[in-house]
Amino acid sequence: MKVFSTVTVQTLTLATGETISYLLEHRPRRTVGLKITADGLVVHAPKRIFEFQLNQILQEKSHWILNKLSQREANHVEKIQWIDGEHLLYLGNDIQLSISPNHRNKKPVFDENKLKITALQPQGLSPQNIPAKAGYSCVKPNIHTSFSRMIIQWYKQQAKLDFSRRLEILAAKIGVETPPLTLSNAQSRWGSCNSRGEVRLSWRLLQAPPHIINYVICHELAHLKQMNHSAKFYAVLESLFPNYKAAEKELKTLSPQLHRM
Ligand SMILES: [Zn+2]
Repeated sequence: MKVFSTVTVQTLTLATGETISYLLEHRPRRTVGLKITADGLVVHAPKRIFEFQLNQILQEKSHWILNKLSQREANHVEKIQWIDGEHLLYLGNDIQLSISPNHRNKKPVFDENKLKITALQPQGLSPQNIPAKAGYSCVKPNIHTSFSRMIIQWYKQQAKLDFSRRLEILAAKIGVETPPLTLSNAQSRWGSCNSRGEVRLSWRLLQAPPHIINYVICHELAHLKQMNHSAKFYAVLESLFPNYKAAEKELKTLSPQLHRM
């Protein structure tokens, strides 16, 4: 027999009068499971549970639920839309994407706080009747991909130049040879350093303010002296970047913004 689970939208009313809507799904399980997804609170409950029992459990967990929901809201950042006028981050500065339709793609140019892209125009659309927002990406997904590829390519090239220069300067400061640099696409870590002394840095860091990039580089350079996160490692890091704790915090806060791209 096939068992269909049904998902219903429910409302939880807290003692404060505040209401939380959630998705309820009954499943063959013994306990109530709660999770916060992109849709908000999702509750997995046993098939046989009284409404008052479920309500009681949710009331008891309301502190956790509210906390998680507000965290989710704080971290929710819209993904970049590859459209004219979109705001991007470059070395901590707010810059604007400027897209001019053309019969062929040209390399992006950074000028006066604008990243100017001259790229293929979507067929059948002239610049005049392309809606200011939502238009580009909805009408022609392939155009959207080609813009994003060009822009990310540009960020990677700039990142390589910028990070290499910083790495050289900071390596000299700590008295080590400039290690080889590789750019990474890692979503979860900003930098790493392996036992061969090679440094990897996420190109997305180029969006961060210079002192944050320096901080990540100093962290990796400190690993050239201490291949661990011991007190000795932090002493090296501190000598190189005294305010590392504040920078670490700042990077954490900034992280969702840097993952827009
Ligand atoms: Zn480390």
